[in-house]
Amino acid sequence: MNKFEALGLGDAIVKAVNEMGFETPSEVQEKAIPILLNEDTDIVALAQTGTGKTAAFGFPLIEKVDSSSRITQGLILSPTRELCLQITNELKNYSKFVPGLHTVAIYGGASITDQAKQIKRGAQIVVATPGRMQDMINRKMVDITNIGYCVLDEADEMLNMGFYEDINSILSHTPNEKSTWLFSATMPKEVSTIAKRFMHEPVEITVGHKNTGSKNVSHEYYVVNSRDRYAALKRLADANPDIFSVIFCRTKRDTQKVAENLIEDGYNAAALHGDLSQNQRDLVMKSFRNRQIQMLVATDVAARGIDVDDVTHVINYQLPDEIETYTHRSGRTGRAGKSGVSMVIVSKSEIRKIKSVERIIKKSFEKKEIPSGEEICQVQLFHLANDIRKAEINHEIDSYLPSINEVLKEFSKEELIKKFFSVEFSRFHNYYKKARDLNVSNEQGNDYSNNGSTRYFINVGEKDGFDWMTLKDFLKEVLEIGSDSLSRVDVKESFSFFNTSTEHQERVLQIFEDFRMEGRKVNVEISKDSGRRGGGRRRRDGGDNGFKGKRRSDGFKPKGRKRFDNKDNKGNESGNRRRDRRKRSDRR
Ligand code: ADP
Ligand code: MG
Repeated sequence: MNKFEALGLGDAIVKAVNEMGFETPSEVQEKAIPILLNEDTDIVALAQTGTGKTAAFGFPLIEKVDSSSRITQGLILSPTRELCLQITNELKNYSKFVPGLHTVAIYGGASITDQAKQIKRGAQIVVATPGRMQDMINRKMVDITNIGYCVLDEADEMLNMGFYEDINSILSHTPNEKSTWLFSATMPKEVSTIAKRFMHEPVEITVGHKNTGSKNVSHEYYVVNSRDRYAALKRLADANPDIFSVIFCRTKRDTQKVAENLIEDGYNAAALHGDLSQNQRDLVMKSFRNRQIQMLVATDVAARGIDVDDVTHVINYQLPDEIETYTHRSGRTGRAGKSGVSMVIVSKSEIRKIKSVERIIKKSFEKKEIPSGEEICQVQLFHLANDIRKAEINHEIDSYLPSINEVLKEFSKEELIKKFFSVEFSRFHNYYKKARDLNVSNEQGNDYSNNGSTRYFINVGEKDGFDWMTLKDFLKEVLEIGSDSLSRVDVKESFSFFNTSTEHQERVLQIFEDFRMEGRKVNVEISKDSGRRGGGRRRRDGGDNGFKGKRRSDGFKPKGRKRFDNKDNKGNESGNRRRDRRKRSDRR
C-alpha cells in the first residue's frame, strides 16, 4: 500500500500525491495527518520550515470539507500574500482530482471585488492574510460563520508581524465548535498565548528541535558603518574561500542588488526572492544544491523551505525586522549534524538588537572583527596552495611539456612558485594590501536610533476609494508590517498621511520608490510637517545601502576567484545566463 494511503488518505489525494512525485510522508505529515483525519481536535504542530506543513494540514482539510456544498468550511490564515498564494497553489494541486472543490486566495494589494466575486461563486476553502480577511468580514464579502476548520499557518510569523488583534477579531466571527489547527516553526510566548486563548486541549506534536536553533550553530556579529555593509560582506566571503552560504536581506530590492553586485564582482551568486517565477526559483535552487552557486542571496519568505545541507555560513546582511525571524535564518546552517556559523553585519545603532536576538536564541554572540586585507590574502594564498596540492593532473598538456620546460628552464622551484603565485595572486593582493579597516569601535552611547515614528505623505486618498481603515489595511499588506507599527492614518480628499515606527522608514521608502496601483504611480514621501528631527525631505535613495552607484569604491573584482576555487567555470556562466533571463521587476 502507498505510504500516503496508509495514513488514511483517499484515492483522489493519493493520485495527486503520486503526480507531484511525493514518495514518503514527511515527519510532520506522518504525525499530523492521521490525527486530523480521525479526530475532531485542535492541534499545535511545531516543525521547522520546509518540513511539509502545508500538506500536513492541507490533505486532511481537503478530505474533511464537503465539496458538494458551496459553503465556506475551512479558513487558512497566513502572514503574507506570497505565502497565501503559495498555499493556495499547493492546495489546488493536492485537490486536483476532487471535483467541485474550490480554494480561493484573498490578500491585500489586489482587487477586493474580484476576490469577493470568486468567493461568491463558492469557495469551500479560503486562504487569507489577516488584514484583507478582516476587511472582507467588515464589508460582509465573506461568511466564515459556518467553518469547521481554521488553520493558523506560520503562527509565529503572523504574531511577529503584529496581527494578533486581527486574528483575535477574525476568530470571533467563527463558530466555537470548529477545530483550530496551529502550525508554527517556533513557539514563542505569544504563540502559546494564542493556543491557550483560542484552542481547546490541543494535541501537541513537535518535529525536531523546539524553539531554539540548532546547537551546532555559532553566532557572530560584526560592527561596520552602514555604507560599508557590502564591502564587509565581500571580506567575509573572501576570508572563507569555501563558503557555501545563504545571505539574508530585508527586502527583495536589496536581495536583488546585493546578488547583482556579487555577480558583477565575480562571485558565484544568485538572488532568490518572490519576484522570480516558480521556474526561475527552481533553477536557482538547483544550481545552489549542486554548488554552482556559493552565495545565495535571499529574502526571508523566499528562503523558507530551503532544505540544503552543508550550508557553511548564514550571513545576515541586515537583521530581520522581526527578531524571531533570526531563528529561521540561522536554522539554514548547522543541519544534519554539521556545524555552521551565523554572521550578522550590524551598524552601531543596531547593536542593541543583538541582545534581543540573544534572548530569543538563548545563546550568546561573539563579537568579531571584519578581517583585514592582509588576513584575507593569507587565507586565499593558502587556499590556493592547497588547491594546487589537491588538483588532479591533466595529462592533456604532457605533449607540450618539453617546450614549456624550455621556456622556464632557468628558474628554481622557489622562483617558479613565486612567479606562479604572482600571476594568480597579484591582483587580489594589490587590491587588499591597501584595504582600510572596516570595523567600527563598539562603545555604546552613540545610538542614533530613536524609537519614535516617522510621518509620511502618500498621494492617494478618498477619491481613490480609501478610508482610514482600508488605507491601513492596504499599507499593512504592501509593507508587510503589523497594525502595531502603523498609526495616525489620516485620509484626505486626494492624499493621506500615516506614521510607521522609524525603524521601518528605509523599507517604506524603498517599497514605494516605484510602486504602481492600477497603472498609477503611488508616491510616498516623509512628511515635512512631522515636526520630528530629521523630518524634512530626504533623498529617497536612503543612506543604508551605499551601492546605489554602479560600483562601490571598494569594488575589487576577484576575477580569478573561480580559479582559486578549483571549480569549473560552468557555475558562473550559468549564473550570468540566469541573470540575463531574470525578470527585472523593480517593484517589490
Ligand atoms: P513548510 O510549510 O513546512 O515550510 P511546505 O509545506 O511549504 O513546508 O513544503 C516544502 C516543500 O516540500 C514544498 O515544495 C512541498 O511541495 C514539498 N513537499 C511537501 N511534502 C512532501 C513530501 N512528502 N515529499 C516530497 N516533497 C514534499
Ligand atoms: Mg508553510
